[in-house]
Amino acid sequence: EHLAGHLPTHMKGLDEALCGGIPFGVLTELVGPAGIGKTQFCLKLSLLASLPANYGGLDGHVIYIDVESKFSSRRLIEIGVKSFPEIFHRKEMAQEMAGRIHVLRPASLSEFTESLQQIKVSLLQNQVKLLVIDSMAALVTGEFEHGAPRQKTLGWHVSFIKSLAEFSRIPVVVTNQVRSQSRDETCHYFFQVQSWNETIEDRTRHDSHLVAALGINWAHAVTIRLVLEAKSGQRFIKVAKSPIAPPLAFPFNITSSGILL
Ligand code: ATP
Ligand code: MG
Repeated sequence: EHLAGHLPTHMKGLDEALCGGIPFGVLTELVGPAGIGKTQFCLKLSLLASLPANYGGLDGHVIYIDVESKFSSRRLIEIGVKSFPEIFHRKEMAQEMAGRIHVLRPASLSEFTESLQQIKVSLLQNQVKLLVIDSMAALVTGEFEHGAPRQKTLGWHVSFIKSLAEFSRIPVVVTNQVRSQSRDETCHYFFQVQSWNETIEDRTRHDSHLVAALGINWAHAVTIRLVLEAKSGQRFIKVAKSPIAPPLAFPFNITSSGILL
């Protein structure tokens, strides 16, 4: 049993900044615009949580709440084959790894609420080593449901998810899309990665965007916030909130092997 309570991302600089990776027992949020790589990051983490320990994995199961039907098991296998060929070239091993990732697709907020209760039961069985919710904001705006968009706050859900992380002591990773009129504008006013001279006003605008979507509880419930952004054609991961890490930014790429620093 690992004493260090982290899921390594296998992205060296990021793991160092986070003292080992995505911590157990708290919420980690991935924020960024559409297409930046949040789901790719979640797929990679799911793979790593399911891999045997001698490959740097947690040898566990994953519960993946796929709100917008963006999970792709084909893509997961592709990342596996490229990153861990010894495992994924053996068909039965590849199937076992993929079979450890349990994808839930709630069709409504009430289905999501029910699934949280089921997840609590699953977590008591101790095999689940990662919970992913991709994405939380989509649940609130209701864009994944048919019909008119809704605006609801998720205060109860946020507390419940946080308590799941705490009692089960597993990493919980939640994505959120940051919307804006244009992607360039997002990058310009939210995050000035290179110089790290984000103004208080910028930060407030960023936070208030999500607060408007998810309620004030959300901002406080998240322990680590990683912001993904693109600037001049280069993607960056920024450690925007952390109790331990300084505000660092890491350039990253997405290839057939998945997300890489
Ligand atoms: P959204 O908010 O819309 O869900 P996201 O942040 O989750 O977006 P992802 O779906 O994780 O974005 O990333 C999509 C990007 O990943 C694509 O734009 C593409 O650049 C890259 N990508 C996906 N599959 C591959 C692949 N097989 N090889 C290389 N790059 C890929
Ligand atoms: Mg996505």
